[in-house]
Amino acid sequence: MRKKIVAGNWKMNKVLDEAVALTSELVNMAKDEVRNDAKIILCPPAIYLTTIQKYIEDAPNFALAAQNCSDKVSGAFTGEISAQMLQSIGVQYVLIGHSERRQYFNETNALLAEKVNTALSFGVSPIFCCGESLEQRQNEDYIGFVKNQITESLFHLSEEQLKSVVIAYEPIWAIGTGLTASAEQAQEMHAALRAHLASKYGAEVADEISILYGGSVTAASAPELFAAPDIDGGLVGGASLKSREFTNIIKAR
Ligand code: PGA
Repeated sequence: MRKKIVAGNWKMNKVLDEAVALTSELVNMAKDEVRNDAKIILCPPAIYLTTIQKYIEDAPNFALAAQNCSDKVSGAFTGEISAQMLQSIGVQYVLIGHSERRQYFNETNALLAEKVNTALSFGVSPIFCCGESLEQRQNEDYIGFVKNQITESLFHLSEEQLKSVVIAYEPIWAIGTGLTASAEQAQEMHAALRAHLASKYGAEVADEISILYGGSVTAASAPELFAAPDIDGGLVGGASLKSREFTNIIKAR
């Protein structure tokens, strides 16, 4: 059985007090309302990771992800955060290749392959993000485009390494726009990506990889999306900043 995951990507939002308040609310609501086999991953800004960790200590279904890490192990890279540092504070996951990182920080498939390697070498599981722009969806082989992102950043991995990776399909045209891919559109891509993984690693391995959907997921859209056979949960941006909304999304998984 694949892990069902709901992850909340806070991006560059919340000051410390707000981050703590949101976490406490989420933990409390989850305690009362959410099945304890639900896997919930919070992705706060890195500066809050150690603080937030204390607030989720007694909530075994919660885990933390950083929003990014360096492709380098250590050294003179001012402002960067390494996978080894994440490992040293007990962070289990890291987002790699979010479209905002690709777009604003020029992260290429080749660089992301390095980040994936570095994360895995320190036992931090990548949540590898992929997805096409609206222009690509309209003009190009959009499925081929996303498959290629996976080929170039993940297909050098061994079977064992791949099993530690979570994939998040996030069509760029649906991120922060209020436009959600329909369950059919998302399922089409997720099934294609799983088949792509199967073509390289075999169906059994492909079946074990959680593929999350992201892009304007809300409590209203989550139930239909999460019911699709190849959608194993969500990576949620805006709606993860509100405890009630995010809890309702978790309940939909
Ligand atoms: P959104 O963001 O839910 O606000 O569209 C999703 C993401 O960027 O991960």
